[in-house]
Amino acid sequence: MALVATHVHIDHVGRIPWLLAAGFKGPIYCSEPSARLLPVVLADAFELGISRDRRLVERYLKMVEARIRPLPWRTWHTVFDTAEGRCRIRLQRAGHILGSAYVECELTRSGEPPLRVLFSGDLGAPYAPLLPAPKPAYRADVVVLESTYGDRTHESRATRRQRLQAVVEKALGNGGTVIVPAFSIGRTQELLYEFEDILHRQRLKPGRHAAAWEKLPIFLDSPLAGRFTGLYRELQPFWDAEAQAWLRAGRKPLSFSQLISIDEHEAHLANVRRLSRSGEPAIVIAASGMCAGGRVMNYLKAMLHDPRHDVLFVGYQAQGTPGSAIQTFGPRGGYVDLDGERITIRAGVHTLSGYSAHADQNDLVRFITRMRHLPAEVRLIHGDDEARRALAAMLRAATDGRVKVMNGD
Ligand SMILES: [Zn+2]
Repeated sequence: MALVATHVHIDHVGRIPWLLAAGFKGPIYCSEPSARLLPVVLADAFELGISRDRRLVERYLKMVEARIRPLPWRTWHTVFDTAEGRCRIRLQRAGHILGSAYVECELTRSGEPPLRVLFSGDLGAPYAPLLPAPKPAYRADVVVLESTYGDRTHESRATRRQRLQAVVEKALGNGGTVIVPAFSIGRTQELLYEFEDILHRQRLKPGRHAAAWEKLPIFLDSPLAGRFTGLYRELQPFWDAEAQAWLRAGRKPLSFSQLISIDEHEAHLANVRRLSRSGEPAIVIAASGMCAGGRVMNYLKAMLHDPRHDVLFVGYQAQGTPGSAIQTFGPRGGYVDLDGERITIRAGVHTLSGYSAHADQNDLVRFITRMRHLPAEVRLIHGDDEARRALAAMLRAATDGRVKVMNGD
């Protein structure tokens, strides 16, 4: 028995502790970058959910690390080969977060032709910062495809960068803070990359707000996001061609001079106090991404009532989370309850859809139609009912009914 981890987001690896507790002794296969990120993700989840006892955390990590088997990209690896049959897997870049993979799995029973099943994991959008776009597979018999954004299309890269810039420039004018609730892995590093690019462009071709941009501090107020940003920097050889070119040109996409990481809790509290009163413009990136806990809560409690500040959502806000309430009621001057405190929202509230890290409807359809040989069957997973239904209809139309699409209905 073996486990294949497509990428290290917690909704894909969060149950590994239970698997180990149940006696799983097999290998955990993943890409080389994922092998570096996974222990940090699992240690954090362990500390949050089970225990902060250093000894227990260390022991658990040893157990995990002993199981991890990093695999190079695009290379077949035999999982088992017995008299009854054989199973080989191959990882391909999925472009979703660093190290994310889709998995080609080839199953051979003696005397039968091999069956190739592709598991998409989460697929990224093309033009995601730092990551090469996922390339469709050559062939597969069955594709198990995610459908998170199966009913939506994203803004283009240029549009979303302009909108990001516009939201920040509004704040530059009124001396407020732009609070960006963000997830620690993936989204945070994409945003830093985009901010570095805006700063770079402002220096090359100064706009109206160039002077303000030059002084603007960008706070990364999340120790975990800071650790992942550090790991992303170490994993530079896995960045895409654009990011490599920027490095060669002397740029530092994830460690530019205006980026200030805040680690200590005291420093965090002091930053909240200072920014809520000072009138100096600033950007703060803090977790959690859906405002359900984490340091972003202190910023929101101190700033949501004040129209000088802005909240910028760059990721999906699940129903029932404070993030979703702020996103829905904020623009109408409504309120939100945070830790039992009712706060009227006077800060500006904005949403950018382009930074989703997930392929949109067009990308998902192309992932199938651009395969050299169409699969006989596509099974849709990882999306709500509407997304799956809409994507199924698009896929059937795009392949003239030649592909059997199962959407779980
Ligand atoms: Zn994911």
